[in-house]
Amino acid sequence: MLKDSFGRVATDLRVSLTDRCNLRCSYCMPPEGLQWLPKPELLTADEIMRLVTIGVERLGITEVRYTGGEPLLRRELVEIVQRTAALTPRPQVSLTTNGIGLERLAAPLAEAGLDRVNVSLDTLDRDVFIRLAHRDRLADVLSGLEAAHRAGLAPVKVNTVLMRGVNDHEAAALLRYGMKHGYQQRFIEQMPLDAQHGWKREDMVTADEILAMLGKEFDLTPADPRERGSAPAELFLVDGGPYRVGVIGSVTRPFCGACDRVRLTADGQIRNCLFAREESDLRTALRSGASDEELAERWKAAVRGKRPGHGIDDPTFLQPSRPMSAIGG
Ligand code: SAM
Ligand code: SF4
Repeated sequence: MLKDSFGRVATDLRVSLTDRCNLRCSYCMPPEGLQWLPKPELLTADEIMRLVTIGVERLGITEVRYTGGEPLLRRELVEIVQRTAALTPRPQVSLTTNGIGLERLAAPLAEAGLDRVNVSLDTLDRDVFIRLAHRDRLADVLSGLEAAHRAGLAPVKVNTVLMRGVNDHEAAALLRYGMKHGYQQRFIEQMPLDAQHGWKREDMVTADEILAMLGKEFDLTPADPRERGSAPAELFLVDGGPYRVGVIGSVTRPFCGACDRVRLTADGQIRNCLFAREESDLRTALRSGASDEELAERWKAAVRGKRPGHGIDDPTFLQPSRPMSAIGG
């Protein structure tokens, strides 16, 4: 088991397949992009599968989520999903994507064993999309969402980061869109994880503000907290239900005490938290001939040292040097 010194057990593995991306969301990376990881540093598909297999077979991982950067840019994605779904015990296999390319890939991914997908969508307005993500790709995201729904990757979850003065006027419209199409809409507080280090607390649209905005147009009542489990989203019934909207207050309503996640970066580093300041280098060990047993022991040690919380409110808080796109969101 991957247990930390506070008794939390990591069962949910997030694997970043690439740090590259075809969008430039302003809360994540600068318009000019970033210096991508050199190819030789990226884990190969076989190396990823070796580590994922160790996680599932020896360390109690029950859910594997592929993310990035943009995971649909990784050519071997369908093969990786298929090999993950073939493991015993079979983990849940999910994907977090910006949706570009999902129109073509949703059906093959579902066929390969993908169980669920989260698609990021911050606006329904083409001009806002261009301003926010610096690319004219809204239509691709929307058709990707539809394809995921058609392929049965249910429930399709939609992740939205609201930004003050940019897209926060669209909260109700996005919720209405999700209700109409059968997507589970979730709003996420913006976290200090952008490559530019430009996050400011006063710019962040807080969970309280999100609920107040939605509350003007919908009747929201808290869902049974047991539905949430260790998931980050607080769920609210909309207009009496059964539709539920999620609010993820990562900064103002932290859920670190219930965290069951561990992350593997595209270059083979274990991170025990999004905000961790240390990483454990499994790639070098793996390429130097370490056995499965040795890799599992290193991984366990990396999780053991997990801190109790992200500490964003602590005066000594330092943003991690790796941006979100290189960690795997
Ligand atoms: N490219 C894929 C996507 O956008 O879904 C996967 C990687 S992305 C880093 C994963 C998630 O992190 C997205 O839902 C994105 O909105 C979110 N994200 C990125 N930067 C963030 C930030 N600074 N605060 C909160 N969420 C962020
Ligand atoms: Fe790309 Fe996802 Fe970052 Fe947007 S949030 S720039 S889609 S990695």
